Amino acid sequence: MNKVNILNIPITNTTKAQFSKKMMILLEKQKRPIQIVTANPEIIMLAKENPTYEGYLRASDHVVADGIGVVMGAKMLGTPLQERIAGYELLLEFLSLADVEKHRFYFYGGKPGVAQKAAEEAKKRFPNAKIVGVSDGYGGDGDGVQVAEKIAKLKPTHIFVALGAPKQEEWIAEHAQRFQHAIMMGVGGSFDVLSG
Ligand code: UDP
Repeated sequence: MNKVNILNIPITNTTKAQFSKKMMILLEKQKRPIQIVTANPEIIMLAKENPTYEGYLRASDHVVADGIGVVMGAKMLGTPLQERIAGYELLLEFLSLADVEKHRFYFYGGKPGVAQKAAEEAKKRFPNAKIVGVSDGYGGDGDGVQVAEKIAKLKPTHIFVALGAPKQEEWIAEHAQRFQHAIMMGVGGSFDVLSG
């Protein structure tokens, strides 16, 4: 998958369907965490103001264009992207590709009760998606380190982190090394949407 540079951030030029399938194949083969950022214009601007955050984005495996602003920016620069890939839609795509024997999902973030409700909704819509645990994003399961320790014990293959930017990308960058066989993705307000 080729990448398009927008304000020093390499954006993966792909489609939602192609990207999610490729990530699932990579997950089979690879023994290291796969870090994905779904970047809207706010995330890209945040990276301009905060070099540490920019470093997290540049060090992640893939940054995809979540937001029409990013897609339009790429077009204006003469390097058009194939399509917008919204975090929420990518989350649904991964759930739809779930194999109950192989995949284990973890939902981290949102107000107390929201991840749980989102997990129940996901289970209804995608019966093959095994959700092995949830944590809220406000300290119900302790601080970020304690949550990471809890999650690591459950050995998930997909960790969706809904703490908003920049917290979710910071948490992923800080704890990725604990997860040698997982897709880790910041999903912003997706649990709020999924839980209705
Ligand atoms: N959130 C959280 N812990 C925090 C701050 C935010 O769990 O300390 C959650 C919040 O409840 C919401 C999500 O993070 O579900 C961020 O949503 P927002 O719509 O701001 O995300 P965006 O996609 O705009 O980054």
